[in-house]
Amino acid sequence: MERSFKTEVQSLALGDGDTFHGEGILAVTKALLQSGVSYIGGYQGAPVSHLLDVMVEAEDQMRALGVHVETCTNEASAAAMLGASINYPLRGAVTWKSIVGTNVAADALSNLSSPGVMGGAMIIIGEDYGEGASVIQERSYAYAMKSSMWLLDPRPDLRTIVRTVEKGFELSEASHAPVMLELRIRACHVTGEFAAKDNRKGEYSSLNRIAAPAQFNYSRLAHPPVTYAQEKLKVEERMPAARAFIREHKLNELIPGDLDEIGIIVMGGLTNSVLRGLERLGLADVFGVSRVPLLVLNVVYPLVPEEIREFCANKTAVLVVEEGYPDYIEQAVNVELRRADIQTRVLGKGLLPRAGEYASEALLDGLAGFLREARPATIDADAIAERAASLLAHKAKIAAALGPLPPRPPTFCTGCPERPVFSAIKLMQRELGPTHISADIGCHSFATFAPFSLGNSILGYGMSLASAAAVGPNLANRPIAIMGDGGFWHNGVITGVASNLFNKGDGVLIVMQNGYTSATGQQFMPSSLGGRDGPAPGMNIERTLRGLGVTWLRTVRTYGVAKMVKTLKEAMQTAERGLKVIIADGECQLARQRRVRAEDSEKLKRGERVTRARYGVDDEICTGDHSCIRLSGCPSLTVKPSTDPLRTDPVATVIESCVGCGLCGEVAHAAVLCPSFYRAEIVQNPSWRDRALFRLRSIVIGWLGGYNAAGAAS
Ligand code: SF4
Ligand code: SF4
Repeated sequence: MERSFKTEVQSLALGDGDTFHGEGILAVTKALLQSGVSYIGGYQGAPVSHLLDVMVEAEDQMRALGVHVETCTNEASAAAMLGASINYPLRGAVTWKSIVGTNVAADALSNLSSPGVMGGAMIIIGEDYGEGASVIQERSYAYAMKSSMWLLDPRPDLRTIVRTVEKGFELSEASHAPVMLELRIRACHVTGEFAAKDNRKGEYSSLNRIAAPAQFNYSRLAHPPVTYAQEKLKVEERMPAARAFIREHKLNELIPGDLDEIGIIVMGGLTNSVLRGLERLGLADVFGVSRVPLLVLNVVYPLVPEEIREFCANKTAVLVVEEGYPDYIEQAVNVELRRADIQTRVLGKGLLPRAGEYASEALLDGLAGFLREARPATIDADAIAERAASLLAHKAKIAAALGPLPPRPPTFCTGCPERPVFSAIKLMQRELGPTHISADIGCHSFATFAPFSLGNSILGYGMSLASAAAVGPNLANRPIAIMGDGGFWHNGVITGVASNLFNKGDGVLIVMQNGYTSATGQQFMPSSLGGRDGPAPGMNIERTLRGLGVTWLRTVRTYGVAKMVKTLKEAMQTAERGLKVIIADGECQLARQRRVRAEDSEKLKRGERVTRARYGVDDEICTGDHSCIRLSGCPSLTVKPSTDPLRTDPVATVIESCVGCGLCGEVAHAAVLCPSFYRAEIVQNPSWRDRALFRLRSIVIGWLGGYNAAGAAS
């Protein structure tokens, strides 16, 4: 990866007596080292990419602790790593983005949780749920329930997060079950401090290897007939052991309050938001002292029946604050209270939204509604409801005053090498008509937004070609599948390419070869030119495809729009049957800029010549039809008023953020738009040749313009 995590790496070295300051996700990373893990793995994805990135950069520290770090090619391989904890007393952790990553890992997770573990096994999942999430909205809770893995959801407070990680390993070992630690976006980015401890070496690790392999023990395999016994073990032994541990070690917290005829049962991760809501309603202070008692579930699965009963007994009503659908916790609380014949009313969904993120507005509304329903004797619930309404009233006023706001969809970075491919597809479609586009996960999915609006389906990471398998045979035109190189290695090479070839399929596949898994922060992957620790491993997409039997294969530089259009037309029209693959080659511009900027600044310091390309539009030639903007979608290409008083339409202009990729000029050329684009080269520390050329050009331009350059300058 191109980004540096030097500062974060230093904080991993803190020990007894030091105070750690920083973000939640880094606190988790430190807590893993304090817990004596022997191995760490994962697949990057927001909001937990940071964990693996930091571990990778802290290689020296990992080596000193004997921690094996693996950047896996997908979540399934990360989950399978946890198999090391089945037979050996090895603590290990893996990480990925959920729900999507958990879906990919599901098979390995089932086969891990059935035999159970000897060493503590932890899965750190970035629960990408709610406003700003980038994946489908489902909960990971169902996986915990179906596979009997325990789900930790710590209160977003660094001390609680670190304690939950450390205790999580103990819980896993005490109950012989894997644990999942879910972190929402806010928990990952919450900042705070905690008293650091020395990092611990694992009991066994690469520094102290286990002398002999585990003895053959059939009951440790996820294989019949022992799987039948394992299912019983989950219910009869592991679950009770987990509940006893959670209760004994007080993993869930009780925040007391004087309004004890009511209470709130809250998922740990939502505690700060609930306390903030109560504070705005005058029922808590900013330090989290609440008038309403709270049962904070830092472990949301399994629930501990005794804790639920004890909290609810003698209360008239409780509110369950459980984000997302279905309402697993609310149902479980209801069942537990009915079983115990406790008549406390359970409120939750209905007062709170049935689906979607519990942002402050939803919580204010829900809390006020709860108080109105429960009507505790010592407070005026109606006055509190009015307060909530007044706190939210300004929203309607603002909306009315502003009117509908223009949408601001995310888009490709300026100069992105993937944008030209979609310009080319649009140009191709102008001639050949519309095409079915199977889109995929990755930066290229930005093409589903305006101005491209290209893409008919997204079925998962690396799934585009597979999702076109039944489209092609039923459609007059060949479908186009778009896949990133990240998606190719994640699973697209098997689920898409191998399956297509095996079934003698047809169709067009575009592989965006930008060199990194860019959307998750420019991590390296098998075909990157660099590697995590120096030289690249040398895997190559073109050779892989040829090895699999792809015969129609073209590699095209993405910025060459005219050539890309020609190649696309050829792929769509050739009589040759079979898969046609276009490797669209162009380095991720964000990664390139980070690299080039650092290189250029070094050169400038040494007084060396540095050049930078910029594009511009000649105001006098621009016709103002803005086709260039619609076809390129570059955020550095915008409009400004025309300087010609006879023309009212604004003209196109290139702003300061242009990185000189050349796409706008290429598009203008390929689409036969207009000749108004020009390219300028900005030279810093010019050589004598540059200066001489500049002087010569100035004289010639001055002569052509009919004035004396020297005179004009004076
Ligand atoms: S991160 Fe790279 S690949 Fe992704 S949009 Fe930006 S330039 Fe394009
Ligand atoms: S050259 Fe054109 S397309 Fe490329 S960054 Fe500049 S304005 Fe955008």
